[in-house]
Order: sequence, then C-alpha cells, then structure tokens
Amino acid sequence: MNKKQILTQITRWGESRLRLRWVITLCGLPFFGVVAAFGTAPDTVFSFVPTKTIVEPLAVASAAPSVEADQVFWREERFARGDTIAGLLSRLGVEDDEVHMFMRSAKSGRSMLLLRPGTTVQARTTQAGALLALRFVTAKDQLAGFDRQGDEFTPVERKLPLSAQVLMKSGEIRSSLFAATDAAGISDNVAIQLADIFAGDIDFHRDLRRGDKFTIVYETFFHEGRAIRTGRLLAAEFINQGKSLRAVWFQDAEGKGGYYTPDGKNLRKAFLRSPLEFSRISSGFSMRFHPILQQWRAHRGIDYAAPAGTRVKATADGTVEFAGRQGGYGNAVVIRHQGGYSTTYAHLSRFAGGLRKGTRVFQGDVLGHVGQTGWATGPHLHYEFRVNNQHRNPLTIALPAALPITPQQVAAFHGVATPLAARLDMLRNTNLALLE
Ligand SMILES: [Zn+2]
Repeated sequence: MNKKQILTQITRWGESRLRLRWVITLCGLPFFGVVAAFGTAPDTVFSFVPTKTIVEPLAVASAAPSVEADQVFWREERFARGDTIAGLLSRLGVEDDEVHMFMRSAKSGRSMLLLRPGTTVQARTTQAGALLALRFVTAKDQLAGFDRQGDEFTPVERKLPLSAQVLMKSGEIRSSLFAATDAAGISDNVAIQLADIFAGDIDFHRDLRRGDKFTIVYETFFHEGRAIRTGRLLAAEFINQGKSLRAVWFQDAEGKGGYYTPDGKNLRKAFLRSPLEFSRISSGFSMRFHPILQQWRAHRGIDYAAPAGTRVKATADGTVEFAGRQGGYGNAVVIRHQGGYSTTYAHLSRFAGGLRKGTRVFQGDVLGHVGQTGWATGPHLHYEFRVNNQHRNPLTIALPAALPITPQQVAAFHGVATPLAARLDMLRNTNLALLE
C-alpha cells in the first residue's frame, strides 16, 4: 500500500466517523471489536491482529504488597496442546523449586494439571522468578489458582462475573479457514461453529476458495474488559465461490434453536456435505489435497485424504446396516437412511464404541476414525452415497432441507432475524467502503 492510499483511507475514516459512531452506539460494540472488524482490508489485516496480549491481572490479587511493586510483574502464557505444567511455568518465568513441589503434591496443584489446552494462565512473579500468584479461568467460568506468601499457598476459586457483548468480525480466505480466523483474531470455537452452520451447503474440506469471505456476529463474555470466552454465533455470512449464504440463530418459544436464512429457510440439510469432522488439523491437510473428481464414475465414491485418527461423522440420521471388515473397504460402516438413501464410510482405523448393526445414529454422530485398512495406500476416507442402491455423486444431488420457520413463528423470527441481517449488511458495507 502506498502513502497516497493510506492517506485516502484516513480521510475516509474521518468522513465516516459520524456514521461509525452511530454503528458503535447501535451495536454496543467495544472499541477493539470495531478495529478488528475492519481488519479485512487488504494489507491492513495483520496490523490489527494483536500478537501478544497485554498483561493485566484477571482480578485484583489479594496479597499484593505494594512495596515490591516495581520488582513484581504479571506474565501471561497459553497452555498449548501437548504442553506440560513444567514447560508452562518456565515460559512464565517461574524458577521456583517449591512451586514445582506444590504443583505435584497439593490438591489445588493437582487441579492445575487438568488445564485445558488453550487456557490462558497468568503468573505474578518476582524478578528472581519466585511465584507469588497464579490465575486461570476454568471451563465453568471459575477464577482458579493460588496466592503464595512464603511457604504458604492459598487456593483461589470463585465465580467470575461475566458480561456478554456482541462482536462482529470479518475475514477473507487466503490459505485456509483457520488462517483467516487466526488473522482476524477469531477463536477456534467460533471458526468451527461457522463451518458447522454451513455444513449442509459447503464442504469446508473441498469447496473453499481463495478470496472467499465471511462476516460473523457472535457473543463474547467479558470480565473487567477482558474477553474470557466466546459464546454462540448469532449471525453469519459466507461468500463461497461468489455465492453468498447467510444464517441467523433463532430459538423458538420452547427454547429449541437453529440456524435459518434471513427469510426463514432452515440451514440444516438432511445430509452434511462432508463426512469428515472439520478441525484445525483436518482442514490444513485437506486444503492441500485435490480430490480426483473426474474419476468419480469409475471410482463410485469420494476420497478424503485426512490425517489418521480424524473423526468420521454420519452425514445423516439413519440405522447402521453394516459395521465390520469388508475386503478392499477394510473397516467399513454402511448406514441406511430414510427415502432409500444409504452411505458407506471405508478404510477406518477403528469404529466408535458400541457401533453395530441396528444402531440408530444421528447426523454428526462419530462413526469411527480415518485409517488405511483394506486397499488403501495412505490414510483416507472413502465415502459412497447411494440412492435405491445405485451409486450417486452426492455433490451433484439436490438434497432435502429440514423444516422452515412455521407461519406461527414468522413474527417472532423476523423480530430476531431482521436486526441481525442488518448487522451483516452494515459490516459488509463498511468493509466495501474501506476496500474501495
Ligand atoms: Zn476411494
């Protein structure tokens, strides 16, 4: 981006400030939500992404001797998948044998060992590396950890009061969905919700293209101005290969919720587009893999390359007709669905527990894991789709959708859907303005 363009953008920003203020008031957005929302403009996307979180205690530490204030500081690290407590403590700058002993012995020390990957842990240490306090938030929104004074460790555990806010963000696919959501500062939880919502229309393992765009509106829970965790996706737009799909969350009077198009069509389809679980690992793998679609006629199935162990899901509700070893298919599952449909999942490394002939399964249930049993040169899933026992290409068949919004629900639905759709419009328009 050259200087002139930057200047133009600044001027535009100034011109649209009035309108922006209106947007902010209307949506109750915290300032950084707005900043991130504009992170999609080319060349600016990375500049808005926080690479290191500002260190600030989650809550006021009770034992805070102010005399030491200049020698004491909080550090923050994420507990990663495959991480160890010792590794985490060392990254937090803790060099303290007593603490290591405490972590191994005491009850609250042991509960620390149950840290979920992705949890942010904060440590208050002296310059010499002595640990004074440790804090993290549990899955149940509890603030946990301990304070330490001398050789005394006082466990901390209390409910964290959270306030919900609605955030809006957008992104553009350049290499993978997760690369795009990472760049926009969107959590994996929200990225996977996004993929699940459109799983009846988009196969996120093979349909994504460079230049696809998305906009999302979602809940985030804050404590004292800090985002603690993300909640539900309330609305989303996904522009896949130039085609726009929109979804809004609607819960009926009985509390049953689902995603619908803004005009009330159900986004849930009788069949998922992909039998593979969408995850950070499987997505990266499959984006590199180009399925040989033109060989479908001879092959009578679709091959999904995926890392061994990736979960395989039932694409629709049905009953297990076969689960076992079958020649070249290796470990295979065949499911019979309503309306003369059946699906086959082959080369599995293992089956889900309790799966046998006659088992009732629901869409999205895990059937087993990707492997290379039978005639397979590498780990992949072989997926077949039949209609009245005839092989069909599921990618070319129009499949029935779940029930739309009923006439009785229309008024309540529009009360929720219209403002959500307006938010999507707003974000899309402001992004376009910045991109012009
Ligand atoms: Zn195959």
